[in-house]
Amino acid sequence: MNLSNFHAAEFDSPRYRAAIRALAMLRARGLRWLQRALPQSCALCAAACGNTLLCEQCLDTLPRMTTACPLCGVPSIMSAICGLCLVRAPPFAATIAAWMYAFPVDQLLQAFKYGGALALAEPLADELARAVRARHDSRADAIVALPLSPSRQRQRGFNQAHEIARRVAVHMRIPMLRGLARIRDSPPQATLAWKARADNVRHAFAADALLRGRHIAIVDDVMTTGATLAAAAAAARQAGAVAVEAWVVARTPPPA
Ligand SMILES: [Zn+2]
Ligand SMILES: [Zn+2]
Repeated sequence: MNLSNFHAAEFDSPRYRAAIRALAMLRARGLRWLQRALPQSCALCAAACGNTLLCEQCLDTLPRMTTACPLCGVPSIMSAICGLCLVRAPPFAATIAAWMYAFPVDQLLQAFKYGGALALAEPLADELARAVRARHDSRADAIVALPLSPSRQRQRGFNQAHEIARRVAVHMRIPMLRGLARIRDSPPQATLAWKARADNVRHAFAADALLRGRHIAIVDDVMTTGATLAAAAAAARQAGAVAVEAWVVARTPPPA
């Protein structure tokens, strides 16, 4: 499929990788310099915390996703595959979430997405990359940000998933691809009942042949029912992606 609104550039070459390594080094040096010049305060408790926006103490108290179904990411005892995934395999080869979507992670993500606290992308991406590394079972060879529709992106001015994904790509030293587009605007999922969400986003995405043969990780900030990521995964698989993982900062546990 050829989609004219794509920037269909694939950044996967030795030169690109070398540039990424150089950028990561410069970034680390730049951050060290900033740490000395501009001490930051924690976004949650306002304590001084050096070069990051979340202090160690707050990070330790956030609701980490410790044991979860490896396929869909809902909390599960001893990280066993959950009942729902046993009955019907999800479209994801793996789902990895750094935290549960609960207080105060919800506050952080809302400040990031709607409150203009774009700098939070850095610590959020750090934690997501840490969670991916801790899982050891990711096979992703490319990262794709869950796209917004062009009109929603214009409204918001940025795509929160892209802001996180590009930093995670640097951390994980995996190329980032732009092979996915949102072709249909649909009402925000938050306004809909859980059951209506899959219908709302069906056919909302289109994927490019760039994804053919790749094992991709689609990055987003929050996974609620998983319907949006599933629709994106279906489009990616249709375009030839061999497997799709979902990497999210936070996962909402299903309603009791
Ligand atoms: Zn703090
Ligand atoms: Zn599951």
